[in-house]
Amino acid sequence: MIRATDVFNTSRIFTLFTRELGRVDALAQGSRRLKSPFENGLDLLSVCDIVLLRKSGDSLDLLTEAMLVERFGSLRHNLPAMFAGCYVAELLNDLTHSYDPHPKLFEAAVITLRNMTDPELLRRRVLRFELAMLRELGLMPSLDHCVHCGSESAIAQASDRVAFGLAVGGVLCRDCRNGQPHVATLTRSTLELFGHLSRPGQEWRQAGSFRDEAAARDVMSAVICHLLGRRPRMHRYLHGEAIG
Ligand SMILES: [Zn+2]
Repeated sequence: MIRATDVFNTSRIFTLFTRELGRVDALAQGSRRLKSPFENGLDLLSVCDIVLLRKSGDSLDLLTEAMLVERFGSLRHNLPAMFAGCYVAELLNDLTHSYDPHPKLFEAAVITLRNMTDPELLRRRVLRFELAMLRELGLMPSLDHCVHCGSESAIAQASDRVAFGLAVGGVLCRDCRNGQPHVATLTRSTLELFGHLSRPGQEWRQAGSFRDEAAARDVMSAVICHLLGRRPRMHRYLHGEAIG
């Protein structure tokens, strides 16, 4: 359940990111009544089993039943985790298309929302989710070969600083970086942290420094802003601007 909008007197339109259908907008009639057919199965950021009535043409699909499966209770008592969860929902809403299923992305979102309680790892978990999402959507930045000429050795032999083209989506060798717009500079250790965060295993928990983590956050934010053409609403909360 990634978004809810009140409509009419007693109904809501829900945006769901479903395992089998991808993103779906559906009208839940009567869901705001005290005795609604959905009871408490329709919390934002919860996983539900649903019954969906597909409509033809421009009509909204109807949500006729919802049964709560997982509520991610720990998010409800932890503000930074809640903000991060809302950011995950925002990305699912804004970067996926209706009826374009991505079961792996569904699983990645559930695992991320389930494991947000450790404040030390929260920022890394969000980065891991973003990388998993970019990979699943075919938007994964190139981290080990020049995104322009394809040379792997030119990146491996680069000095401590590696250019990262935000517009082209990946690292750039010395020859290719000239003339590219929107280029950020990454240190080798930040680039390595990105590599760990994008791979299975446990290295992502310890690899790199706090500075690398902050730099990785900045670059990922720039990548996401570039893809969306604007800044996500929840970014200010991720960067701690509103948490203090
Ligand atoms: Zn190149």
